[in-house]
Amino acid sequence: MALDEKTCEIAVVGAGAVGLSAALAFARDGYRTALIGGLDTRRDGRTVALLNGSVRFLDALGAWPSLRSKAAPLETMRIIDDTGSLFRPPPVSFRAGEIGLDAFGWNIENATLVEGLAEAARSFDPVTLIPGQATAFRAESGAAVVSLSEGPDVTAGLVVAADGRNSMLRRSAGIEVRTWSYSQSAVTAILAHDRGHRDASTEFHTRHGPFTLVPLPGRRSSLVWVTRTEEAQRLAALDDASLALRIERQAQSLLGAMRIEGPRGLVPMSGLSVSRFWSPRLALVGEAAHVFPPIGAQGLNLGFRDVAALRDAVVDAGDEGREPGADETLQRYQRGRDLDVRLRTAAVDSLNRSLLTGLIPADFLRGAGLLALSNVGPLRRAVMREGVLPRIGAPRLMQDTPGVYGNRS
Ligand SMILES: Cc1cc2nc3c(=O)[nH]c(=O)nc-3n(C[C@H](O)[C@H](O)[C@H](O)COP(=O)(O)OP(=O)(O)OC[C@H]3O[C@@H](n4cnc5c(N)ncnc54)[C@H](O)[C@@H]3O)c2cc1C
Repeated sequence: MALDEKTCEIAVVGAGAVGLSAALAFARDGYRTALIGGLDTRRDGRTVALLNGSVRFLDALGAWPSLRSKAAPLETMRIIDDTGSLFRPPPVSFRAGEIGLDAFGWNIENATLVEGLAEAARSFDPVTLIPGQATAFRAESGAAVVSLSEGPDVTAGLVVAADGRNSMLRRSAGIEVRTWSYSQSAVTAILAHDRGHRDASTEFHTRHGPFTLVPLPGRRSSLVWVTRTEEAQRLAALDDASLALRIERQAQSLLGAMRIEGPRGLVPMSGLSVSRFWSPRLALVGEAAHVFPPIGAQGLNLGFRDVAALRDAVVDAGDEGREPGADETLQRYQRGRDLDVRLRTAAVDSLNRSLLTGLIPADFLRGAGLLALSNVGPLRRAVMREGVLPRIGAPRLMQDTPGVYGNRS
């Protein structure tokens, strides 16, 4: 294939956190990589809790050192059953020290993370940044072509669709999706508060969804309040002072008086799963491949696992003399992701639905599950480890093995 400035080995579409990380990952492996998409760093009160494996991944990409001081460690995770259920268990706390970690992960504003990754991509020459929108995708024999809103087409051996939940690339490739929605929305905000959070996140399970406070640096936390859509709309319409008071009451004054800092968000809860993670010359990652409610800090962590797994499949294929965009490479990627994504989607969905039902068997099972988690040591530790980083099939950039870069033959 003749190479010119419009041709690259790997083109990533979408400059969100997942797309930026993909472009960095492939460029660091020595692939000529283009990243197509404009930066969106608007602040909407959304933070992302990055679990341990994701932090290792960002560290391997060289992006973590500059982000670390803007993130808060999650040393304790507390769950409080506030459903009023007959089988309400006492609060359960998990401490990272129990599984030998300093922190389960780190919480950071999504916009800050995107800015940090963009800075890392800008200062890394092998990534070519193309700020336009992708308008069409087609796979041809031996390559794929992405058309842009401005400028010449981009030709690549592999195109990575990181263009979010409404992925144009997924649609162009004819990959089927299943979508569903919940009668809930999430109110998001950044809060300043009088009492320290002691690096603990607290999730109140209410009858209408989880109400979660996650620490940020200083006496600040982020809020994700999942509740009935009409109630979420009512809350979103309150002025800052009235909303802060409602939040303080809902949090049982755990963190003292609160103030809202900066813009807030209102996000309808929905889900999406795909029939397959690839089509010829195309791999789906991040929300282009899966969407579920923001419960249990899973979405972006799963998106980073997609990227790290795709990178392993591409590097391994290269070692065996195959191209990044060959069908066998992408089938390997699919095999690595299918179970993880389906299990997590199902787990988040059933937890959410078990809160909403109010049915005694569901309440009993949830209550008994939490009770077992507080009292049975080995089970607690197994669940904590699995939550932070599944041990089976963890991609190499998420494992505790430095120096995995630089071995592309
Ligand atoms: C309230 C809330 C709280 C959350 N908390 C957590 C958490 O604690 N932990 C966690 O792991 N996850 C969390 N998530 C999920 C997480 O935010 C998402 O999984 C993640 O942001 C998705 O990233 P992405 O890069 O796949 O998609 P996006 O961030 O949507 O990025 C897609 C990018 O593609 C661009 N794009 C789209 N179409 C095109 C095109 N045609 N051409 C070029 N560019 C295009 C868009 O402009 C955008 O920049 C939360 C989500 C919500 C709503």
